[in-house]
Amino acid sequence: MHDRCSGCELKYERAPGYFLGSIYINYGVTAIVMTWAYVLFHFVLDIENRYVMPPILLFCLVFPAVFIRYARSFWLGLDCYFDTESFGLNEPDESHADGDQESTDPQPPAD
Ligand SMILES: [Zn+2]
Repeated sequence: MHDRCSGCELKYERAPGYFLGSIYINYGVTAIVMTWAYVLFHFVLDIENRYVMPPILLFCLVFPAVFIRYARSFWLGLDCYFDTESFGLNEPDESHADGDQESTDPQPPAD
């Protein structure tokens, strides 16, 4: 995993153990997909457990390893969305920082 974004220099791992929360996302998505796959194959399509379980167990081993980068990306996105201050996204806009404020009050018609 890269240390920083090549486009905007955003540091990905913002603190030690920062991506620990992404494990919950990874686990949750794996559990939901596995559960729905089991329900579909066993109860809807009426396939026996001895044929359903091996591919589902294989899925439980392979999917989290593939999905980890997307879970981390989602975790970083959530943090960026809910904690904009620590990402420097609440800095004042430069174009309006000079103190001049245009009046938004309606002006009387000139006649
Ligand atoms: Zn970037």
